[in-house]
Amino acid sequence: MIEASQPPVVTRFAPSPTGRLHLGHAHSALAGWRAARRAGGRFLLRIEDIDPGRCRPEFVDGILEDLAWLGLDWDGPVRVQSRHLAEYRHALDRLAADGLTYPCFCTRAEIQAEIARAGAAPHGAEGPVYPGTCRGLAPGERRRRLDAGQNHAIRLDVARAMACTGGLAWRDRRAGAQTARPDLLGDVVLARKDAPASYHLAVTLDDAVQGVTLVTRGVDLFEATHIHRLLQALLGLPVPEWDHHALLTDAAGRRYAKRDQAVTLAAMRQAGMTPAEVLAMAGG
Ligand code: GLU
Repeated sequence: MIEASQPPVVTRFAPSPTGRLHLGHAHSALAGWRAARRAGGRFLLRIEDIDPGRCRPEFVDGILEDLAWLGLDWDGPVRVQSRHLAEYRHALDRLAADGLTYPCFCTRAEIQAEIARAGAAPHGAEGPVYPGTCRGLAPGERRRRLDAGQNHAIRLDVARAMACTGGLAWRDRRAGAQTARPDLLGDVVLARKDAPASYHLAVTLDDAVQGVTLVTRGVDLFEATHIHRLLQALLGLPVPEWDHHALLTDAAGRRYAKRDQAVTLAAMRQAGMTPAEVLAMAGG
């Protein structure tokens, strides 16, 4: 009898090159690397550099150097998001053709003012939920502003998208079965003039293109998964499993951040620590 074989486990580490990696990143990379290696699967590396204002090439070199120093080897070529903008554009066009996106001309200040006017705005995982000002713009006004070249973002019409997909579910290895609640984040931005694909769009497409079966990342991105699950359904992409790990914190209970220069992996290496010592600290 032929037994159905389990699909191979494929995990990834997907840092943004906006600074040197710190202990928190090492923790996250180690989670993905271990999950893949224990299952005899593949561990992939992706550079999330679609935001040209924040990403710098020297930090890409730093990521490769730090991971190699730690011995966290990855399989296959590194996927660099800025080389795949046409793929994100294609997905965006598809969502637009389905009538699921709209241009949003609001500035940050206008959004704040609108929220203040409305009294208490619903709060999502990423701060106040966009109040939907441009969703109801008259078609003529929308056209006029687009023709005038007014700066705008592209937002997902989440209510309409959910009406198309119906109820959705996803599974986290730690938290168990989840009902997708993309409405918690509201009409998220999918693209901006200066960043042609948002994190949500690029990460969802890339995980599918790279064949990722287990998305390992910090629990700070747990809520974002609701939107990713919706995008998967809209774009007909396979659904992986997720493993949102706890964030590593320092002795005072604070999570590590890019501003903490002392705990960059480069600084620890320069201070004479060995990869084994750093991995021991990152593994906790
Ligand atoms: N690029 C994101 C970050 O550096 C992580 C994305 C993910 O793992 O989904 O925070």
